[in-house]
Amino acid sequence: MEQSEIKVNHIETKSVMTKSNTPLGGYSLNPYVGCPHACKYCYASFMKRFTGHSEPWGTFMDVKHWPTIKVPKKYAGQKIVIGTVTDGYNPLEETYKNTRKLLEELKDSGGDIVICTKSDLVLRDLDLLKEMNQKCRLTISWSINTLDEEFKNDMDDAASIERRLSAMKEVYDAGIRTICFISPVFPGITDIEAIFKRAKDQCDLIWLENLNLRGGFKADIMNYIAEKYPDLVPLYDEIYNKKNRSYFEDLEKKAEKMAKKYDCRFVDNVTPYERVSKGHPTIVNYFYHEEVRGTENSGQRRKNKEHE
Ligand code: SF4
Repeated sequence: MEQSEIKVNHIETKSVMTKSNTPLGGYSLNPYVGCPHACKYCYASFMKRFTGHSEPWGTFMDVKHWPTIKVPKKYAGQKIVIGTVTDGYNPLEETYKNTRKLLEELKDSGGDIVICTKSDLVLRDLDLLKEMNQKCRLTISWSINTLDEEFKNDMDDAASIERRLSAMKEVYDAGIRTICFISPVFPGITDIEAIFKRAKDQCDLIWLENLNLRGGFKADIMNYIAEKYPDLVPLYDEIYNKKNRSYFEDLEKKAEKMAKKYDCRFVDNVTPYERVSKGHPTIVNYFYHEEVRGTENSGQRRKNKEHE
């Protein structure tokens, strides 16, 4: 969808800091409501219910206006995730610069800040991000679940995979910690080792998350698979109708083997903070992460697993 076709509103909010209920805890910051990237599998589309929008997801955006964060230092050491139900670097950020404003307000906070995006617009703010990286713990994550631009184009209106990878490299080379978020992993389509090989020299972490089909978009995805990947229909039926987890359990084992093969750490549900040596990103298993919410953020594998 063209930028000019997005319906834009302006809204006043009391605060831009929202206590998070994601596994990462801390705060979620979303400088916009809605997201023009319009990913077909977007779980954030449930936001429509709470924000009075009846338009299709991806066709509207509310630009938030919030009172300036007065005491940013009170967030020192706190986890702050920017872009949990929008992409702060969506194309309209070029015009409204809300994410840049937010970063300016937080740059001396000392927060533990993670920016999630599917864009290379982040490069516009590289100078500011480098400055922030001196005073905060800063990480930038790009979601990449395919190297196939055609599949990507079927799934979202965000930047091409090549542009995401090239932005990741530039940010990594600038000394900022980066994540390649392989999410959502589409069974039979997402090749995690191919993506790993492409990204391993330019990221510190690889996160793996399964495709979770719930709500209104389940039927859309199932129809898409039937149309474009008919051979995968039985597999999707097994996983998403019959709730058979063996595909992702096997994939978890494959990911663990891959970690050994490339001499990488393999951990559950954590965000370890060290920068790692080039080519050996830590691989973080987030499969079915909603079930491990609240578990100890220890950098270890979960207890009671057969591979321990
Ligand atoms: S980029 Fe994220 S928030 Fe935006 S539509 Fe895609 S999944 Fe949803």
